[in-house]
Amino acid sequence: MARVYNFSAGPAVLPEEVLKEAAAEMLDYRGCGMSVMEISHRSSVFDTIIGEAEEDLRTLLAVPSNYKVLFLQGGAYQQFAAVPMNLMKNRVADYIVTGQWAKKAWKEAAKYGKANCIASSEDKTFSYIPDGSDLPVSPEADYVYICENNTIYGTKYHTLPNTKGKDLVADVSSCFLSEPMEVSRYGVIYGGVQKNIGPAGVVIAIVRDDLIREDVLPGTPTMLAYKTQADAGSLFNTPPVYGIYICGKVFKWLKAQGGLAAMKKRNEEKAALLYDFLDASRLFQGTVVKEDRSLMNVPFVTGDKELDAAFVKEAAAAGLVNLKGHRSVGGMRASIYNAMPRAGVEALVAFMKEFEAARRR
Ligand SMILES: *Cc1c(COP(=O)(O)O)cnc(C)c1O
Repeated sequence: MARVYNFSAGPAVLPEEVLKEAAAEMLDYRGCGMSVMEISHRSSVFDTIIGEAEEDLRTLLAVPSNYKVLFLQGGAYQQFAAVPMNLMKNRVADYIVTGQWAKKAWKEAAKYGKANCIASSEDKTFSYIPDGSDLPVSPEADYVYICENNTIYGTKYHTLPNTKGKDLVADVSSCFLSEPMEVSRYGVIYGGVQKNIGPAGVVIAIVRDDLIREDVLPGTPTMLAYKTQADAGSLFNTPPVYGIYICGKVFKWLKAQGGLAAMKKRNEEKAALLYDFLDASRLFQGTVVKEDRSLMNVPFVTGDKELDAAFVKEAAAAGLVNLKGHRSVGGMRASIYNAMPRAGVEALVAFMKEFEAARRR
């Protein structure tokens, strides 16, 4: 068996311990004689799995008791519609457009009401986070929306925008559980789990109680109303049982690593290895402004397309895979999520040094 270092932006690397545990439990989950894939979502076995998953997630993020934790489907993308359908009481919302995912969310919201773009970084290929200290927040806005970590461009909000009293909604797909968050500063937090938590097929939404309402927009599908899932404990219909089980294992793994403060420290150290090298390199450059750098997604270029392609190919041959950048940025991108071991980043930096030395000879 040869495991590689997988730098994919998502679906992405999972902790090896979790995969091994899941493999060991594949045929007979704790004496029930079945795989978790084969059990009923109404069984007591699954009740325990989803109950512990929620409890562990609440502990990790210190989720206040007036927030519901929902395990949903449809990807982060589905939330682009679910958010306005559930929250657009006045049919007005303000979006900060810091990348393709935020832009897609903004466009989707425009189907349901007046969606304003109140700030954007598109003028510089989304290479920075706009100043959020004094934005033209609409007086009647139902919420202000951000994509907290921009997976494609490698930027992250290190300071949340001033929403002037409006509820903040954040897509945290690619930074979920990478560091502690102050949940009470948000109305809704959601993320697809396939970046930093588990297998594709689960989206977690953390929603403040008062935003879970009966009076959603007319025509909202039953399945998209937060109330439907909140009332049913995420078991309104058949949930992605196996995906939730793996997420639960990752939560326990994170707790065993020391929780989110420990993960933040480790993620900062890992990212520094790569950023320090990029800052010193004469061949490779990072593509975003320093103060907005993401700890999770690190795009970089050589400035020469052929050299970039050669790098991606040679790196893959050396067991460092999925380093090709998103087509809109080009170059390379190393996603170094929670489950990427420090040794993986060290191997990448060592390979980059070698590559650079060989080209400069
Ligand atoms: C990947 C990603 C999405 C899209 O996720 P799906 O689960 O494929 O719908 C949305 N937002 C962000 C920030 C992402 O990284």
